[in-house]
Amino acid sequence: MSGKSYDVIVLGGGAAGLFCAFIAGQRGRSVLVLEGSNKVGKKILMSGGGRCNFTNLDIQPENYLSANPHFVKSALNGYTQWQFIEMVERYQIPYHEKSHGELFCDDSAKDILKMLVAECDLAKVAIKAKCTINKIVAEEGAYYVKTSQGGFRSRSLVIATGGLSIPTMGASGFGYEVAEQFGLGILPRRAGLVPFMFTDKLKEICERLSGVSVDVVMSVNGISFRENLLFSHRGISGPVALQISSYWLPGQSVDVNLLPDTDIIGMLLDFKEKKGRSLLRNLLAQHFSRGLVLELQELFWANYMDYAIAEIPDAALADIASNLSCWQIKPSGTEGYRTAEVTLCGVDTIHLSSKTMECKTQSGLFFIGEVMDVTGHLGGYNFQWAWASGYAAGSYA
Ligand SMILES: Cc1cc2nc3c(=O)[nH]c(=O)nc-3n(C[C@H](O)[C@H](O)[C@H](O)COP(=O)(O)OP(=O)(O)OC[C@H]3O[C@@H](n4cnc5c(N)ncnc54)[C@H](O)[C@@H]3O)c2cc1C
Repeated sequence: MSGKSYDVIVLGGGAAGLFCAFIAGQRGRSVLVLEGSNKVGKKILMSGGGRCNFTNLDIQPENYLSANPHFVKSALNGYTQWQFIEMVERYQIPYHEKSHGELFCDDSAKDILKMLVAECDLAKVAIKAKCTINKIVAEEGAYYVKTSQGGFRSRSLVIATGGLSIPTMGASGFGYEVAEQFGLGILPRRAGLVPFMFTDKLKEICERLSGVSVDVVMSVNGISFRENLLFSHRGISGPVALQISSYWLPGQSVDVNLLPDTDIIGMLLDFKEKKGRSLLRNLLAQHFSRGLVLELQELFWANYMDYAIAEIPDAALADIASNLSCWQIKPSGTEGYRTAEVTLCGVDTIHLSSKTMECKTQSGLFFIGEVMDVTGHLGGYNFQWAWASGYAAGSYA
């Protein structure tokens, strides 16, 4: 089959695809990026609330979920957060650390996309947007890609089409179809970094508390995170809920410690001794918003609502303390791919070289970024994976 030839064709002009493209271009490879939507890098523009949390000061393999937790090590060492920060500084992009080592642009995520596109221009990478890919054929040691804009051939084909989250931003299952075409396994996918929803009485509580945020520890399956929980009219969100959602499985409850720094029973008994005539709700209002206290009262001490704390038996206070330190809530589900930041699981890394991202059984075929079974925590880890896996493939493709 005929078509214009390149050394490398990258499918998907997102974070990983653009990065890989200019790294390969810098090596003198001729590179073509084929992007399905009308513009490259749309998800970068919407990331980090428009300011792109582009990396983190503390990147560890433990910040990633994958069936093979060791897989990320080589690529993360091969291209570090310090190298990306150096590039951001070279482009004089103003940035700041928000919290937990998370680095954000001061002005706009546009700065990061402009930098990636500028690097692609310098490396003479050709980019075609609004390009529908119809077919991929492997023939005579090369790949033929048939598209709405004609046919193209290359020795190396890099799949960087991302995951399933935010379909309105161009997300598609295309990368998984390519993996299947070449016989690669796909681990069952689900939405990650996504808010929880409820159908029981918690649904109404969330609606009433919409906008209230509280610093908590949330835990599931032996994993805990401490950050803000945010009630919304749809359910529970905020960084702590998003982090835990990646570890949660349908049907499970999650535990919420509402006062992680406090010996709660000690505090309640102390109240009882020193402020026995006070109502518990007035005492807890020192720690939580009034609205949250009223909801907790309804849930945990409705029988003692108008009792002075001195009149509440110690055993009942112990129950209240245990509920405040381990509030078990059972989500009915998550908001799904519509709002999820990432897709968990994906192309099984068992088929890929951790050094190059090349498929072990299909020479010249590479998978990078979110399409594969590597998912980062919230906090810039997913972009660092896009840069690092893009760098690994771009150095060999
Ligand atoms: C709202 C939101 C905010 C986020 N904020 C952050 C953040 O601040 N920090 C962070 O680290 N991570 C963040 N993420 C996650 C991060 O955006 C992704 O992990 C990262 O973009 C993955 O890079 P990628 O190149 O693999 O995929 P993408 O960036 O999704 O790129 C894939 C590209 O492939 C294109 N494509 C898809 N199908 C086809 C097809 N059939 N043909 C051609 N092209 C196709 C898509 O249009 C897209 O341009 C956020 C995600 C979301 C949804």
